[in-house]
Amino acid sequence: MNAYDSDKIALGLDPLGYRLTDSPDKADMIIVNTCAIREKAVQKVFSYLGRVAGLKQIRPDLIIGVGGCVAQQEGDRILKRAPYVDLVFGTHAIGRLPSLLSRLEKKRQQVVDVEMGSRIQEPDGAVIPRGETEVSRFVTIMHGCDNFCTYCVVPYVRGRESSRQPEHILAEIQDLVDNGVREVMLLGQNVNSYGKKEGLPDFTSLLEKINDIKGLDRIRFTTSHPKDLSESLIGAFGRLDKLCRHIHLPVQSGADPILKRMNRNYTSTQYLDKINQLRRVCPDMAITSDIIVGFPGETKRDFDATIALIETVGYDGLFAFKYSDRPNAPATQFSEKVAEHDKDQRLQKVLELQEAITLARNRSLVGQTQEVLVESYRLKPVSGNGGVGAGQWTGRTSTNKIVHMPADEAAQGQAGDIDPGLLIPVLIKKAFAHSLWGLPDGSGARTASGPKGENSHAA
Ligand code: SAM
Ligand code: SF4
Repeated sequence: MNAYDSDKIALGLDPLGYRLTDSPDKADMIIVNTCAIREKAVQKVFSYLGRVAGLKQIRPDLIIGVGGCVAQQEGDRILKRAPYVDLVFGTHAIGRLPSLLSRLEKKRQQVVDVEMGSRIQEPDGAVIPRGETEVSRFVTIMHGCDNFCTYCVVPYVRGRESSRQPEHILAEIQDLVDNGVREVMLLGQNVNSYGKKEGLPDFTSLLEKINDIKGLDRIRFTTSHPKDLSESLIGAFGRLDKLCRHIHLPVQSGADPILKRMNRNYTSTQYLDKINQLRRVCPDMAITSDIIVGFPGETKRDFDATIALIETVGYDGLFAFKYSDRPNAPATQFSEKVAEHDKDQRLQKVLELQEAITLARNRSLVGQTQEVLVESYRLKPVSGNGGVGAGQWTGRTSTNKIVHMPADEAAQGQAGDIDPGLLIPVLIKKAFAHSLWGLPDGSGARTASGPKGENSHAA
């Protein structure tokens, strides 16, 4: 979501004559787009600001702006901690950036805007900064969150949930496709409650409409809340040919007392039931999750229940985090805080377990042909001498696994020319914990945006 917002910021500043640069040393303005989800992310913001302060000393005209969730949370307190910052703008102020900047330039006085409205300004067309074309792009379909999980800062820094109008989303995706994009990742804190509040067509209907966009090859989305994962959405994985066979379905904990105290509104049994339904519709579906270890009051028994759930599901991947107190989040006031070294040990155990499961799941793909959307090409660095060796193509399977294909051997696979944006069948030869390695098998259909019938994954 922050990556999408950063693109929106770059796009909004383009008419003012600002262009992206690849180095802070060359910049007239540095905007730090921030995340407040965990304590560590906030610490990173201030240590980064400390580094850019040195640049401002050398070049006093340099404008330093802080946007995003830390800006929203801290407001003008940022100016006290980092007095060299010129501009603080919150999560709802991105659309107002041009006018904030002209205020700053005219008066040469620090500006803070952390006002939150009920709606966020819509982007005017595709969110692609000048000069950038990519195969896959993010599209935010809703803002904010109404779920108030007790550990989470999002509802306070991103505001209440609000869904964008379907016609704006469809127009933005059409515009992206017209600019060469082949895959979209729909973003929201809880995409499967899309439109409910506004009485709009639901998330499944939105997916159906996006599925009809000609020239688009793949649709992904994140994040789904298990409590709102409906039968119709589960069914969509069997029906919609462009919908990728991957779902990120954060469970957070495998222990019911903890889920209750987190205010997640499902039990571990209900969660596992949804997983079974998904696998019935789509047996080779990839499932990933988020886990928080060391939530206040998490006992060893609770943690063991999380380990058991991870083993039962057999996730394809996990993001695991140590719980940290967040401003305004109710769990900050909960007693029975878990000791830091227990959190460390639990995190380690989750990560080690998951690494083994991911490797086993990836290895089960060796010998199979997977459809890969080619994303990029790069020359591989040769270790030791600082030089570069043969090139390699990189793409993703529908199940969101990264696949590398050595360019020289790919040619031997008689696959013809490979280009970013092509969907190609790839024979998986090797599996690692974080990627697969394969060769185009040259036998199947190669499509750029053609009819999807033969590539359908309907189960
Ligand atoms: N809306 C999504 C959901 O409900 O799953 C994702 C929200 S958040 C941006 C991403 C993840 O950060 C959460 O799923 C949770 O695992 C983690 N997280 C949120 N607050 C946290 C906290 N206070 N301490 C540790 N991890 C946290
Ligand atoms: Fe945070 Fe819960 Fe909303 Fe996700 S669903 S953003 S974890 S409050």
